[in-house]
Amino acid sequence: MNHRLRFLLSWFLAFPLLIRAQSPEVKAIKAGRLFDSERGILLTNQVILISGNTITAVGQNLAIPRGATVIDLSQYTVLPGLIEAHSHLLMEHPGDEDNTLTVTKAVAIEGDALRALRGAARAKSYLDAGFTTVRDLGNSGRFADVALKRAIEEGSMPGPRLYVSGPGLASEGGQVPGLTPGQTQLIVGDYRIIRGVEDARLAVREHVYYGVDLIKIYSNSSPNKTYLSVAEMQAIVEEAHLYQLKVTAHATTDLAIRRALQAGVDGIEHGYVVSDSTLRRMHRQNVILVPTDMDFQLAQRQVDKLRMSLSGEQIRNLAKPYHDRLLRARQAGIILAAGSDMYMGLGLARGPAAKRVLFAYAEAGVPLNEVLQAATRNGALLLAEPRLGRLQTGAWADLIAVQGNPLESLSALERVVFVMKAGTVVKSAVSR
Ligand SMILES: [Zn+2]
Repeated sequence: MNHRLRFLLSWFLAFPLLIRAQSPEVKAIKAGRLFDSERGILLTNQVILISGNTITAVGQNLAIPRGATVIDLSQYTVLPGLIEAHSHLLMEHPGDEDNTLTVTKAVAIEGDALRALRGAARAKSYLDAGFTTVRDLGNSGRFADVALKRAIEEGSMPGPRLYVSGPGLASEGGQVPGLTPGQTQLIVGDYRIIRGVEDARLAVREHVYYGVDLIKIYSNSSPNKTYLSVAEMQAIVEEAHLYQLKVTAHATTDLAIRRALQAGVDGIEHGYVVSDSTLRRMHRQNVILVPTDMDFQLAQRQVDKLRMSLSGEQIRNLAKPYHDRLLRARQAGIILAAGSDMYMGLGLARGPAAKRVLFAYAEAGVPLNEVLQAATRNGALLLAEPRLGRLQTGAWADLIAVQGNPLESLSALERVVFVMKAGTVVKSAVSR
């Protein structure tokens, strides 16, 4: 070995030790207002101390350690990074097309690689909009969502923390009605079709093997008419819980919800039509609801896209039953986690479009502090991850700053000026 090589080698061997000996960077954030997601209130003049990727202390006028990097957000409201509980990053529906066309084009023409790349751009738009965590629920090809998650995790591209389900487990036909015999193999490009109890168990094992974080099932496969059997769903829940995976069920009708509850699922998506007795059962079973509602602004955009002639008043009247069920769910004490189900191209980037769901809850009459809790604390409960959704000692340093007071007007959430994920600043447009 020549001398220079030996020198280089010794330097490389010593370098990791030097890195390890360094303590992580300490940051101190001055927050003019801070949203306490546990109590649903705003605190003033708070200081958040961060070491590496973790919050080490939060309190009023805390002493700032010598050498800490100070980030002055005293003119803003600081919140935990927002959590989206129901996304479809690898899918885009133009808003005026048959669903079957959208899915079959995605599978047969767009393909998993292009879907993942486009999904990465949508993931970035979520991060810029203040979402530091996103739960992605299928329509993502054959585990292309897992690939996207890994690429973000390893730092190959910017994006929120992803929790991904892989293809949803569905009954015959998935959500793709109308294909001719011989063409239905396209459906397995986006759904895992379940044929019996043993197949249901096998599907969960496949998903575990490919690295999903949770299992998504379709209790009913709307717009298709078919249901998973209760026995199939029970087998899925039992098998998933064996691997500590949660199971959440697409269920749009009261019957579909009741069947999913009978099978023991952990969460219900949509829940558009639901009776009070079913809500009581959900509450008894500690099942979280993700109400994927559209606000008036997005509804108007879709109406325009479809060239329908509906007045603003007619749109509001159509929303009334959904608002009613949301308030009944809240009254029943059910935990609401914010999820948009946004997969349409309606002239907004995906992140800001997804955020409209919070405005939909407010339009229904959910108090603004509870709307913010739905997108922070309750999302963390849904993911069973106490390090998310709160600004407290031991939590991950995922936080955002907005201009204005979101408890006075939710429009403050449209003005995200600062985003930090795992202690790293990923967006800053802070004025001094
Ligand atoms: Zn969905």
